[in-house]
Amino acid sequence: MLNTNTSWLAPEIMDVVRLFDFEDADFTHYFYFQGEKYINCIQYMDEIYDFCESYPTQDDVQFKRYARRSAKLAFYELLNKVTGISFPYGALTGIRPTKLAYMEEGEGRDFKELFARMHVAADNIDFVGRVMREQRPYYAAGGGQELFISLPFCPTKCRYCSFITAPISSTGQYVDDYISCLERELASLAPMLGRVNSVYIGGGTPFAISAAQLKRVYAAVAALRLPDCEYTVEAGRPDVFTREKLQLSRDFGVNRICVNPQTFSDVTLQKIGRKHTTAQTYEAYQTAKEYGFDINIDLIAGLEGEEVADFGHSLECAAALSPANITVHTLSLKAGAKLKEETRRLHIDGIGEMISLSRRVLTSAGYSPYYMYRQKYQAGGHENCGWALPGKACAYNIGVMEEISDNIAVGANAISKRVFAGQNRIERCASPKDIPTYIAKCDKIISERLKLFGIE
Ligand code: SF4
Repeated sequence: MLNTNTSWLAPEIMDVVRLFDFEDADFTHYFYFQGEKYINCIQYMDEIYDFCESYPTQDDVQFKRYARRSAKLAFYELLNKVTGISFPYGALTGIRPTKLAYMEEGEGRDFKELFARMHVAADNIDFVGRVMREQRPYYAAGGGQELFISLPFCPTKCRYCSFITAPISSTGQYVDDYISCLERELASLAPMLGRVNSVYIGGGTPFAISAAQLKRVYAAVAALRLPDCEYTVEAGRPDVFTREKLQLSRDFGVNRICVNPQTFSDVTLQKIGRKHTTAQTYEAYQTAKEYGFDINIDLIAGLEGEEVADFGHSLECAAALSPANITVHTLSLKAGAKLKEETRRLHIDGIGEMISLSRRVLTSAGYSPYYMYRQKYQAGGHENCGWALPGKACAYNIGVMEEISDNIAVGANAISKRVFAGQNRIERCASPKDIPTYIAKCDKIISERLKLFGIE
């Protein structure tokens, strides 16, 4: 249990405490600010630890930022000392390491110094720098809008999945009404559209719905008469791919598609709750290739029962297909996932080696890391990373993850974001996660988003 005299620091402190799996321990924490000194005094067991950092502070925003940083660092150093354990991103617990790095650079400092002070491993400091170099052209272009359409339906629910999606066998009765709402939402966007960089139909498994239903979604997007742009459908699992859906996608201008097997092991596929085989992954990939799409393949490091060699096999299989993108996720334990009900903490042997291996294999296959993010409770404290062949980075992923463009998002559990560049400000509106509630509140969602984008 944490007792602190500064309650607004508690969430950040607890992020570090959870990282070390020390939620059951008792800490008493006092925070003081004197001159430019940020002082954290922590009592743990019978010992008292004092940490002091100095930062020149100009305003209240900076004060809070540095206070949070100093408190995280204090707890990280204490728990590192007590356990002897260190983590690949040290005391950085945020979702977007690149964002913090850009902020440091924006204030005229070398982000590497801050990252080293936060105990980020040297190879990860270099890795973040590599991702930033790949993103430079997108930052330079900046602005614009990304359009996201949520289709939260899947054939079955994967054991590690915390997403709102449910097996289509239990939600299929909502699909037509759900699409009617998407049609109304999409039609309402016309007055707010400017420079649209990309369209992304995400899942769930968008190909889990019928071709006729998919056609309604595509037609509603086509009615917006957007100029040619990157257009992704996260088709999803290989067992729902059909030539009819692929042809339809092509006819409506989709140019990027995701084939997401997560592993090339049939044994693992069964364990994670998938009903398809690796042979179907190859078949889906080759068929999608015939239609000329850029293809992304998703993999997960740390799936149940997999060792470094198993994950290495999946990496080699994916790289041998030479898709435009390969996205490597690190398994994370999320509320709502079946896995989370059974496991309190993920301890995966070799997870660090799996991530290092992914960097080596994909780099030597000609890929570059172009976006990254982290999640809470991610095995070993690692990251998720998108890799691209030259010229094949996904603009949607960069725009949304780095928050350099507006995200106009429709459907259940969709979060629209308006980015006020230069003001360091983002405003959001979110739709309900639950499908029947989303359908019932569609009109309200439409009017809230119009308001967010300044259209009354
Ligand atoms: S396919 Fe994706 S969205 Fe669907 S249940 Fe599995 S992890 Fe979740």
